[in-house]
Amino acid sequence: MSPVLSESTSSEPPELSVVVPVFNESENLEPLVKRLTPVLERSVASYEIVFIDDGSSDDTLATLRLLHGRDPRYRAVSFSRNFGKEIAIAAGLDHARGRAVVIMDADLQHPPEMIERFVELWREGFKNVYGTRVDRTKDSALRRMLTRRFYQIFENFGETGLPEGAGDYRLLDRQAVNALKSMPERARFSKGLFAWIGFKSIGVPFDVEDRHSGTSKFSYRKLTRFALDGLMSFSTLPLKVWTYVGTLVSMFALATAIYFIVQTVTIGADVPGYASLIVSIMFFAGIQLMSLGIIGEYIGRIFAEVKRRPLYLVAENLGDPQTSPGDPGHPQFDRRI
Ligand code: UDP
Ligand code: MG
Repeated sequence: MSPVLSESTSSEPPELSVVVPVFNESENLEPLVKRLTPVLERSVASYEIVFIDDGSSDDTLATLRLLHGRDPRYRAVSFSRNFGKEIAIAAGLDHARGRAVVIMDADLQHPPEMIERFVELWREGFKNVYGTRVDRTKDSALRRMLTRRFYQIFENFGETGLPEGAGDYRLLDRQAVNALKSMPERARFSKGLFAWIGFKSIGVPFDVEDRHSGTSKFSYRKLTRFALDGLMSFSTLPLKVWTYVGTLVSMFALATAIYFIVQTVTIGADVPGYASLIVSIMFFAGIQLMSLGIIGEYIGRIFAEVKRRPLYLVAENLGDPQTSPGDPGHPQFDRRI
């Protein structure tokens, strides 16, 4: 490493880092930077914006290179493929150097002006300042219904509550960021992790704006995966519920057995009952397969965790002095279970 380079990399960490996961958002980057930069200029002493290019296939990376060339405070880490938004957030936290970190979407659905308020609250001592969505009318009715159901289930069975309407748009103090970085899990359900770490937290309500350009990058398939990840990383109830179901079924079977014994002794045996027999066999075979499937979901996750693969792979790093995860010596490489 040349002396000039090492000098520039040892510069003071900025006051605020803004982490933006991006996946095919080239149309949105310029408008985002244009609206975000003045807000940062007036709210903090120094800042950097860390874009995590989550394996985009459009010219997102080219745009990021242009931005970085224009101002080195616009940094970018580009993944070797699409790893998903949750992992992009984890990578953002790994690469951000600020004393506080804001996480926001690239599509301008998170109004950048809110950061001013986030920073005020951070200076008042809050370490986990999150935006809460006032209404979700920008989402489709089906997605809203499913989201509500998910939160209800999570509320009832998860090991941590999720604050109403809280999303990924938030500011985290360095202490909270370090706490999150110390969590080694691969199945990352950020909303749950953000709630789990605690610290002095506060919600700031905001109206979600329309997507500036393009469409949502989340298909229902991706959302289902996401919801399952969330529930299974924060609750073992789906595993345990089978003990109760099994007990109930056995008790029912025992009662039926007693009924049949009494009937045989008093009235004598009768042959009818074939249909009910087949139905009950199929019913309980179904229950058993379902419970096996749920155990399989957990085992699959345990398998993913024990493989201890790096969480993500970096293909290109614009303006970052750190080595890439996957390189021995990088902290990411060393995440232990
Ligand atoms: N995103 C990402 N990787 C993905 C999907 C999405 O980094 O696999 C980013 C996306 O570019 C955007 C943010 O995550 O900045 C939120 O995505 P989107 O707006 O599509 O989600 P929605 O607003 O519908 O929840
Ligand atoms: Mg969006």
